[in-house]
Order: sequence, then C-alpha cells, then structure tokens
Amino acid sequence: LGRIIYLDNSATTKPCGKAIQYMNDALQNSWGNPSSLHRLGIEAEITLNNARSTLAKFIKASEDEIFFTSCGTEANTAIMTASSRSWGNRVITTEIEHPSVLETVKRLEKYGYEVIKLKSQKDGKISLEELKAALNNKTVLVSIMMVNNETGAVQPVTEAAKIVKEISPKALMHCDAVQGFGKLPINVKSLGVDLLTVSGHKVHAPKGIGFLYCKKGVTISPLLSGGGQEKGIRSGTESVPLISAFGGAVEELSDMQTRYSKVSKICSYARRLFENSGFIRVNSPDDAIPYILNISVTGYRSETMLHFLEQKNIFVSSGSACAKGGPSYVLSSLGLNVSESDSALRISFSGDNTKEDIDELFSALKDATQKLRRSSR
Ligand code: PLP
Repeated sequence: LGRIIYLDNSATTKPCGKAIQYMNDALQNSWGNPSSLHRLGIEAEITLNNARSTLAKFIKASEDEIFFTSCGTEANTAIMTASSRSWGNRVITTEIEHPSVLETVKRLEKYGYEVIKLKSQKDGKISLEELKAALNNKTVLVSIMMVNNETGAVQPVTEAAKIVKEISPKALMHCDAVQGFGKLPINVKSLGVDLLTVSGHKVHAPKGIGFLYCKKGVTISPLLSGGGQEKGIRSGTESVPLISAFGGAVEELSDMQTRYSKVSKICSYARRLFENSGFIRVNSPDDAIPYILNISVTGYRSETMLHFLEQKNIFVSSGSACAKGGPSYVLSSLGLNVSESDSALRISFSGDNTKEDIDELFSALKDATQKLRRSSR
C-alpha cells in the first residue's frame, strides 16, 4: 500500500499490536470450545473470561453483565426485547440513530409498537424537553446513541437516562455506544443505562466482535437461542480468538485520555485550517467529539472527492450515508442544504494520525478544486 493516510476510523480501525498478538495466541493455544468440560475447554474459557474481565472493568460493569455478540448491530437488536413487554406499546429513539437501531425499531412498529423519534436540533443533539414530552407510562424502551457516527455530536445520555427513570421507571434505557466507547470514559452506573452496545472494530480490534452490557436484574429476550452460551442471552459458541483480540485492544486503551488530547489537538488544527480556507464548510458542531469532523467542499460531490483523495492514498468517508439517493437525514437536521449535504466528507481520526496527515489532506482538497469539475447541484 505504501504510506497511506487513513482518516476513516469511524468506519473501522486498523487492528492494533495486542489485538493481533492475542488473536494469534488464542488461535494456536486456546482453540478448545469454552463450553467443553475437559482441559482444552477450560483453557479456552479462561482466555474468554480474561477478556470479559478487561471489558467489564473498562465500563465499570461486572463480568456477568457482559454478553459477547458478533457485532454492534447484533447487540443493538436487544431493542427487540421491547416486544416482551406487553404492558406498554411505546418505544422512543432518535431520528439520527445508526440504521441498526432505526431498522430494528421499524420491526417493532410492524408488531404494533408506537415509535417516537426525537429530532436532532441545530447543534446535532436531541432535546431533553422533547424526550420528557414523549415519555408516558406505556413507554417500554428508550434508545439514545452516545455519539453520532456522521457528525460526532455527543448526546446527553446521562441526563436522558435520569429523565426516563423519573417519568417512566419501568422503561428500559438502551444506549448505542459504538462511537463513544474507547473515546469517552464510560461508567455504566453513573450513565444510568440498562443496556449498552459496543463494537470491537471501532477500537482497533478485528471485525466480527461486539458486546451487549445488560445490567444485573434486567431480563431481556435472547438475541440468539440455542445451546445457552452467554447465560442464554446469546447462544452460539463464543469466538475466543476474536474476543481475546478485543480484550487486547482494550488493554491498549489504557492511554485513552492521552489519545483523546492528541486527537483533540489534531481536530482543532484541522477545524481552524478548514474554517479559514474559504472553500470548506465544517458541519460538525463545535462541541462534537474530536474523533469525527464532518466537512463539505461545496460544489464537489462526496464520492468524486473520495476517489480523488484515494488516488493520493488518503482515505475518508463520504459524509452522508445517503438513504437511497436522498440527502443524509442526519446532515439535513443540522440545517445543511442539498448541495452541502451532497458534498459532505467524514474525516475520522485515531491516535495514530498526525498534523502532517491534515496538511496533506488539505493540500489534496485544494488540488481537487483545481482539477475536478464542479457539480451542477
Ligand atoms: N452503531 C453505530 C453508531 C455505528 O457507527 C456502527 C457502525 O458503523 C454500528 C452501530 C454497527 O456496528 P457493527 O459494524 O459492529 O455492526
């Protein structure tokens, strides 16, 4: 590949050293089935539980509250547990959730549930007043993401959870923390959630592993039924190598705060450079997480720009996950017009990025405005 500038860390991250090392080690030495009663099984189970303990500690949960899943999407399907709450019929979420939440609540709608989607305000956040007004004694579940994957807007989850427990104490509070985990410190107790979703590949573990935190005492329907693994919540033989790699990746996150300040500096640098450029609009709210910077090079379609950058070994995302050709619902809620939304790019950082990466991106964007034809929209 040569030298690449990878600025698409919200899509996925490069596996880190410990993740690769732990994965290799588990493949070679812990390949037993962790449910087997013999020595090979017990060894695999020990490897599995070491990772479980690392992950539990990282979010201040206990080990028996961590349920491994195949990805963040699967952990989000825990929302379907609403259908086991026959005493109520209302589910509340936000209009800016990841499709894995939005498509799941659509299924609940088909079962007759009334789904209310809180709007995103101009600052990219939901309104707590709107949440208060939506809650009632028939509300069975509320799902609010921690960090939006397109804009980086941080949602007021702690405050929201408090309000939910006051007004609808029987409702379950779920949080999709896929873009927040490993970036913001998480303490599930003070956050006040019953359920929390995490995915490994956004924090330098391999793809295909995630977990659901489920608070002790909260009963939910199984994500997969079968042999009863993961205490019956998620049957299926656990992927010990992937889980172990996830544990390794999280051990490397012990410097989370240092990484955060490094990324903050790089993001502020990029923000200033872009805002003063005269041709780049910064779409992410000022107080968004520094790991995500959504911008628009107005007049140049995202996809064209993305491929232009790719030729220079710079990798970014098109900023708007266009819903079937339409503009991104997330960006429209920030007040972007169609042309701004059409030219949105998502730059997303990791602790490995440098100021030089930003300089190269900036000069490539300038170059593009000279070489590419403006789109007519
Ligand atoms: N939730 C959010 C906010 C995400 O950004 C993503 C992935 O992009 C997911 C859920 C899905 O995670 P996974 O790819 O592990 O299924």
